[in-house]
Order: sequence, then C-alpha cells, then structure tokens
Amino acid sequence: MHDCLFCRIVRGEIPAAKVYEDDEVLAFRDIQPQRPVHVLVIPKRHITSLAHATPEDTLVLGRMLAVANGIAVDQGSTDGFRSIINTGRVGGQEVMHVHMHIVGGPDPVGPMLKR
Ligand code: 5GP
Ligand code: ZN
Repeated sequence: MHDCLFCRIVRGEIPAAKVYEDDEVLAFRDIQPQRPVHVLVIPKRHITSLAHATPEDTLVLGRMLAVANGIAVDQGSTDGFRSIINTGRVGGQEVMHVHMHIVGGPDPVGPMLKR
C-alpha cells in the first residue's frame, strides 16, 4: 500500500543491514553513515513524519525511544549516543517515513547544530 522507501525495506523488497527488529519497530544501518554508529529506527507501520503523528502512534513512538540505548550499545556506542528525528522541510527530512537516527561511536558526536 505504502510505496515509500522504508515501507519497502520493512517488506524486504529492498535490502538493509538490520540490527534490531520486533513486532512494531525495525532498525537498520544508515546507507551513508555519518558516524561510526549510524542506525535508523523506524515504525514498521507507515507514519509519514512527526507532523503526521496521532495519539494512536504513542506506543510505537515510545518504543522507538525505549529500544534506542540497547541498539546503540550493541552497535558499539557504549557511553551514550545522539538521537535525531528530522521533520518536514524545516527539519530537513528526506525520507517521508518517520525515522530516528541513532548516531554515536567511541567519541562525542560534537555540537548539536552547526552554525
Ligand atoms: P533524513 O534526512 O530524512 O532524516 O534521513 C534519511 C536518511 O536515510 C539519510 O541519512 C540517508 O543516508 C538514509 N537512507 C536513504 N536511503 C536509504 C536506503 O536505501 N537505505 C538505508 N539504509 N538508508 C537510506
Ligand atoms: Zn513508509
């Protein structure tokens, strides 16, 4: 039904380096990693962006946060990480299916925003 890129990854139509999966959430490595650890965590069910989230999405959005540290530690970011969710034009969202970036590694990721 949803022909978006990340829905196709959920359905296995496009390969991805999966690192975590449960009933509601999938996580896989970003194809262009910007840090030694760079994972995308997505709801399996299509949600276009946080600008489209509804109260029905509360549980899955919470689960994305709740599994983040375990994924980060598994991937080698053992002393913290940064989570980023870009939303819409202003947020610079490129793929229109909610995704949380987990970025990290052995070293601090640096300032939150470039000037
Ligand atoms: P956004 O800018 O929307 O927050 O981030 C989209 C992210 O998706 C980018 O970091 C980009 O590298 C990643 N990405 C785009 N296409 C693919 C793909 O086909 N596979 C994977 N694993 N990541 C992708
Ligand atoms: Zn989708």
